[in-house]
Amino acid sequence: MKREEMMVACCGDLSGKVRGKAFPLADMEKRLKRGVGWTPTNVQITCFDTIAESPFGSLGDLVLIPDAATRVSVGSEEGAPLENFVLGNIRYTDGRPWEFCTRSILETALERLKRVAGVRLLGAFEHEFQLKHLTDDIGKAFTLGGFQEERYFCEMVVAAMREAGVTPDTILKEFGGGQFEVTMGPQEGVTIADHALVTREIVGIVARTVGYEHTFTPIRDPAGVGNGVHVHLSMLDAAGRPATHDPAGRHELSGVAGQFVAGILKYLDAIIAITAPSVVSYLRLTPHRWSAAFNNLGFRDREAAVRICPVSDMSDVAKAAQFNFEFRAADAAANPHLALAAIVHAGVQGIEEGLAVPEATQEDLSRLAANALAARGYVRLPQTLDAALQRFAANPIAAGWFPDGFADVYVKHKQGEIGYLAGRTQAEICAAYEAVY
Ligand code: GLU
Ligand code: MG
Repeated sequence: MKREEMMVACCGDLSGKVRGKAFPLADMEKRLKRGVGWTPTNVQITCFDTIAESPFGSLGDLVLIPDAATRVSVGSEEGAPLENFVLGNIRYTDGRPWEFCTRSILETALERLKRVAGVRLLGAFEHEFQLKHLTDDIGKAFTLGGFQEERYFCEMVVAAMREAGVTPDTILKEFGGGQFEVTMGPQEGVTIADHALVTREIVGIVARTVGYEHTFTPIRDPAGVGNGVHVHLSMLDAAGRPATHDPAGRHELSGVAGQFVAGILKYLDAIIAITAPSVVSYLRLTPHRWSAAFNNLGFRDREAAVRICPVSDMSDVAKAAQFNFEFRAADAAANPHLALAAIVHAGVQGIEEGLAVPEATQEDLSRLAANALAARGYVRLPQTLDAALQRFAANPIAAGWFPDGFADVYVKHKQGEIGYLAGRTQAEICAAYEAVY
């Protein structure tokens, strides 16, 4: 049978899934202008394909307009049509951004950062995932042999990233059973999140091609490792110079970067429902698993919500350009555009409030009592998705960063997801997420 080359116009949604519609590639020019039709209630499709309570019902029409700059075309078998997709923004038919378009929400957050602080964001996502056929494998953490066993898979992921315009950085056999980590090179602005989504999709494309099953689920089993998403961030000033580093600043953070980090930590309990948005995310965000259980800053400490990353005097890159901090309280159930928007808004809020740079913790915060934590400005992060959603909805500042109605729809979406899991055991809940992420 003949096959025709297709293009899928898509967008990452509230569930962290990439959804869209395919059309013949031959229609690309036309579709770049007209887009593809989209339905408001789609935003309430949960990761389990149930539809959460929707204010839109069966009403309304939207268009998903592809952004040609995000086009991904990856080759598979010799002579077969390419695997094509393109990300876009969801708009009203008159062109206005739709309130629930995750990419438009990030664009608004980045504009706020530019307006308030005069800086642009650079960033890169680091993703951990597991290959399901290897999850019982032990003795392979960070080993050469563990990497070599999956060399073909890793080489294909890296080649496909490069073909897709994502700069490959590293790929490695991580600590956990069958766990790998893939990192992308830094990008600017909305492309940071675009490339995070593309990287996830490429891991999926390659896994399907070689007949593997993979999972980005935040955690498969509370007794095992988590799959984190770490978001590395730094800033550029208007002239394009690095603006994150100041050797005289506290922890060597520049004024603007220090306030930004302080804002993230101040509002972390209100945005965690967006950056770690699944029921099982809260099994990962527990002490002693190198994720984040408190709103603390770590100076090169991996048990922190925000970590100031190391720089090397031996590198060919100047120290100021290497200097970055990473947000560790995220996972791949989160839509990267939405997670980054929440982080940016919290950071900008910190700049507007002129917050002081927090101390960097060096001890085990899980040993401190609640009053000792509070005296030092720390909170234990919410321990369930439900509690996290309540913090978001109850924080008018955080909810106010998003378009009108967004917080309510987001909470309803997540309540629909929680409802689907009602009556299941923890093991069944973990299995349900492992099947869909
Ligand atoms: N797997 C850990 C997480 O859940 C991170 C380990 C690391 O530092 O790479 O975030
Ligand atoms: Mg890692």
